[in-house]
Amino acid sequence: MLDSNIQFLKGVGPNRALKLQKLNIFTIGDLLNYLPVKYEDRRKVKTINEISEPGKYLLKVKLIEKPKHNRIKKNMTIIKAICKDDTGFITLTFFNNDFLMDKLITGEWYYVFGNVKIAYGKLETTNPEIESADKDWKAGRIMPVYGLTYGLSNNEITKLVKTAFEIYYNSIHNILPEEIIKEYKLTSRKEALINLHFPSDLRKYSLAKKTLAFEKLLIMQLGLFNIKNNFLKEISHIRLNNKDLAERMLAYLPYKLTNAQFKVIDEINEDLKSNKAMNRLIQGDVGSGKTVVAVYTMLVAVSSGYQASMMAPTEILALQHYATIKECIDLAGLNIKAEVLTGSTKAKERQEILRKLKDGELDIIVGTHALIEDNVEFKNLGLVVTDEQHRFGVRQRAKLSNKGNAPHILVMTATPIPRTLALMLYGDLDISLIDEMPPGRQKVITYVISEKEKERAYDFIKKHLDSGRQAYIIAPLVEESENLDLDSATDLYEELKSSYFSGYSLGLLHGKMTSGEKEEVINKFYEGKISALVSTTVVEVGVNVPNATVMLVLNAERFGLAQLHQLRGRVGRGRYQSYCILVNESKSKKSRDRMNILKRTNNGFIIAEEDMRIRGPGDFFGIRQHGLSKFDIQNIVNDVETLQQVRLLSKKIMKENPGLTGPGYQNLKREIANLFKDETIAFN
Ligand code: ADP
Ligand code: MG
Repeated sequence: MLDSNIQFLKGVGPNRALKLQKLNIFTIGDLLNYLPVKYEDRRKVKTINEISEPGKYLLKVKLIEKPKHNRIKKNMTIIKAICKDDTGFITLTFFNNDFLMDKLITGEWYYVFGNVKIAYGKLETTNPEIESADKDWKAGRIMPVYGLTYGLSNNEITKLVKTAFEIYYNSIHNILPEEIIKEYKLTSRKEALINLHFPSDLRKYSLAKKTLAFEKLLIMQLGLFNIKNNFLKEISHIRLNNKDLAERMLAYLPYKLTNAQFKVIDEINEDLKSNKAMNRLIQGDVGSGKTVVAVYTMLVAVSSGYQASMMAPTEILALQHYATIKECIDLAGLNIKAEVLTGSTKAKERQEILRKLKDGELDIIVGTHALIEDNVEFKNLGLVVTDEQHRFGVRQRAKLSNKGNAPHILVMTATPIPRTLALMLYGDLDISLIDEMPPGRQKVITYVISEKEKERAYDFIKKHLDSGRQAYIIAPLVEESENLDLDSATDLYEELKSSYFSGYSLGLLHGKMTSGEKEEVINKFYEGKISALVSTTVVEVGVNVPNATVMLVLNAERFGLAQLHQLRGRVGRGRYQSYCILVNESKSKKSRDRMNILKRTNNGFIIAEEDMRIRGPGDFFGIRQHGLSKFDIQNIVNDVETLQQVRLLSKKIMKENPGLTGPGYQNLKREIANLFKDETIAFN
């Protein structure tokens, strides 16, 4: 029932259905699960004399005379209606709302909800919501505010949700088994949903939130544990206990590892010699030196007679890692064969690489998703490294690891995430932290400037280019967007080339280029043939050009802080003092405050926490892949207690009832299969 098409809901025609689809609402169930982003408290009716400052208020007023209706421009009409309550007067102004003329009846009472302004002591509100005082259904309640799409108002969505509840309330079934709801003092799913849309009181609302958080967490945890149990073998017969090549590589490195790097290497070595498969996540800020730790681990694998593979989310990164590995190998004069495999590797070359991998002629393979394709086979895969894990799902990790017989797994991420989130998303991983930067690393100096100061920033860049350094100039989008006046990288490139930077060698990098083109540009930048690189955020992960000293980000306010932090991490990688210049084109205080966080600290964890505090967790984190809505994360992330309860419960269930059999478990099972529909779930 709940999976009937949304078109069958009263009040939804083909037109509205299309709009709802833009919000990912395809079925009745989707609509009921489309939770408000916030609420408006309309429980209290204000009297006019209580309003001493502007704000959003609910009033109950009487229309005292026939409203005035005028045309003020060719396509603009205005209605002015004067109303009163027992304590004073207020003018309601409506633009282009002609139909109201028939509805507004002199002498009638109305509820009016809107932004009230005070001008010369007189109250006024423009385009408020208005409803008849005797037919109202919003006044006196807490009303939901939904995320909207073009052509669909909050009022419309609210009404549809209300209709859906009226018709389908009893079709809302529990996902959690009854015994769990009882044991953990949760509530039924229908109670929970209705209280999230139309909270009747705070206590019920909290219980509703907790119930849904519990539900979602249990689905996630059981799914993760299931994948882990079925596809990631705990016991491994692969012992990686020869460190010769790895230690030799370290001896030839032009620098000494930091204590943090050594500590993580120790933790890894402990894992590698136990009889359990390593399953470890390295969290470390941009530039903390995760790559060399990964290379070390791969060399332990090779030293011990196994193959190692490393998967990166983008071609750029894969190529960069490959270059780093090559360099390490060459410096230490190791006799090791490494190759790189990406989507754009030529067919013939690819055949050759695949053959060598299978025959064991290759020791190390670096690549993109291309590595998880079915025809990629290894002779004896001992270690799987994935970089920037949050871009890969569990399934992909499992798929790569299944190309060997329980190989060890190392995952790296530079996206610092709060502990609860980490537990949720990487619940099955042990976590190592590289919490120290290499010494002598200069702190990147960050400036926040306004649009007007942009030219000075360009001059600043030119000075650096003149003394032999290089720079990045980041534009947010590739193509002109209809709604956003973002500088497009291509336009910006053309503009800068023919104006400020004529005479300089500029390069252009964006996501729509083929990987061959990208590679060419990055190589030129790396070799210094391009002095300033105009780019979209494709450079965000991993590009490593130590000679680059300035990172200029236009429209910086449109980026997440964590993303800006990543971008900033592209400079300050060599021995020169480096700068990050953020052009904040917004005038809001909130935006300025956000930018200033970056000025204050270089610590990615602090930045992530702050960003989460200001914008909520959904924005900076690639949550889509995990099937979690913004609501889910927000709801869950601060609820450590529930998280712990669910973890214990999940472990218990996996032990006592791993097949999730029994009548109460059917829905839970289906939801897990749904959430992980791209993954392979097997309940036996
Ligand atoms: P990330 O953790 O962001 O992946 P990288 O591994 O790319 O960082 O390292 C950033 C830079 O720091 C590289 O140029 C690397 O060679 C260098 N580096 C790594 N470890 C050290 C160290 N202990 N001392 C000096 N430089 C280091
Ligand atoms: Mg890295």
